[in-house]
Amino acid sequence: MASITRALRPLSRTTPSARLASKRLATVRPVQSAYAFSTTPRRREADLSELTPTPISLLSETESMMADMVSKFASEQIGPKVRDMDEAETMDPAVVEGLFEQGIMGIEIPEEFGGAGMNFTAAIVAIEELARIDPSVSVMVDVHNTLVNTAIMKYGDAQAHRTWLPKLSTSTVGSFCLSEPVSGSDAFALQTKAEKTADGYKINGSKMWITNAMESGIFIVFANLNPSAGYKGITAFIVEKGTPGFSIAKKEKKLGIRASSTCVLNFDDVVIPKSNILGEEGKGYKIAIEILNEGRIGIAAQMTGLALGAWEHAARYVWNDRKQFGQLIGEFQGMQHQIAQAYTEIAAARALVYNAARKKEAGQDFVKDAAMAKLYASQVAGRVAGSAVEWMGGMGFVREGIAEKMFRDSKIGAIYEGTSNIQLQTIAKMLQKQYTN
Ligand SMILES: Cc1cc2nc3c(=O)[nH]c(=O)nc-3n(C[C@H](O)[C@H](O)[C@H](O)COP(=O)(O)OP(=O)(O)OC[C@H]3O[C@@H](n4cnc5c(N)ncnc54)[C@H](O)[C@@H]3O)c2cc1C
Repeated sequence: MASITRALRPLSRTTPSARLASKRLATVRPVQSAYAFSTTPRRREADLSELTPTPISLLSETESMMADMVSKFASEQIGPKVRDMDEAETMDPAVVEGLFEQGIMGIEIPEEFGGAGMNFTAAIVAIEELARIDPSVSVMVDVHNTLVNTAIMKYGDAQAHRTWLPKLSTSTVGSFCLSEPVSGSDAFALQTKAEKTADGYKINGSKMWITNAMESGIFIVFANLNPSAGYKGITAFIVEKGTPGFSIAKKEKKLGIRASSTCVLNFDDVVIPKSNILGEEGKGYKIAIEILNEGRIGIAAQMTGLALGAWEHAARYVWNDRKQFGQLIGEFQGMQHQIAQAYTEIAAARALVYNAARKKEAGQDFVKDAAMAKLYASQVAGRVAGSAVEWMGGMGFVREGIAEKMFRDSKIGAIYEGTSNIQLQTIAKMLQKQYTN
């Protein structure tokens, strides 16, 4: 199986001896690779016109190290717990602890704040590798890194960086709280309100479907400080677990990604200090849009990893275990064509994901690319995970393996961080602008 995985995983310039698969990433210094795409800051400074075009799937040495390390951690430490966590609809605290220990919760956070100081693509490969084993763990890492950490790094001031980043990289899970009972796709119709107090803000309202809520200690909460200004009143705040008036009202029971917690949150006169504002007053809508544009690439990576995980699980079965009519079922041409088609679609989804990530790192407009990656990767995940169940027959349908779980988990890709219709709308809007005279 290793060879199948390796074949689809992006090419790497890393030699096997250079892979520090088991080393804690936070202690790994980014290698000064000859490859100009290795880190976000250097990439931004690079003169792109001088670059020789390379395959979009080529990883730098540090990115490849991240992929290998996460792959090992996921199969050894998470794999044995996947089925139990899904049945119990709970994330094992030891898994969360392991994610922090491995440096996977602060991938882009600078080393001075306890993070790994790596680039966006390193986060993307980590999310993808985790999803191959468990999409629930993958979304925890995705939301924490690509939404919460990024929002604080990008919009927080020096004080906010000192306050929150060390916690987020070493011990405290984060949540991103935008959706509400009345506002999902129409996110800026949110009703949660904030008002100014003498030395801070007071928040009232509720949030719905908040990922990581059971495990989180830090919540980025969007509330309207000036409803008369409409969406221009929306402001982002940081609320800590334990703040009086803040409570988890309900944990949802779900179709898929059941080990990932999804909760309703209530805010009853939650008072926070002035320093807990994130960015400027009235700029919350901009923060939400910009962060979710990036975050979508993470969900696309999650769906790509999920599709590969489901595919590998079924491929192993049809090519090693199950015989019918006197031969392995994977030797029937009718099966082989479907298996090859699915693998090709996964590779295509991955190309969209990596292209969007690289464009983001290059400081180019990546919004349409991110939407296309999320849309397509979600579709591929649904198709491949569905096929994997069928290829395995009865064994795919029962809860012994992970095929049925991956199938259930795949559905969420078309819903969170913008439904598939919303992605289509974004893509069409941008195309129309481009093609209107
Ligand atoms: C497991 C899970 C985890 C989540 N995690 C988070 C989180 O951490 N933080 C957070 O803030 N939110 C989170 N969400 C919320 C998620 O982002 C929303 O569910 C999503 O944005 C869709 O909103 P909705 O559910 O209200 O669907 P609706 O907006 O009611 O949409 C229902 C249907 O109508 C379609 N539709 C709506 N508007 C249009 C339109 N203009 N054109 C065409 N079709 C349209 C949609 O595509 C969809 O098919 C999570 C949700 C789930 C299920």
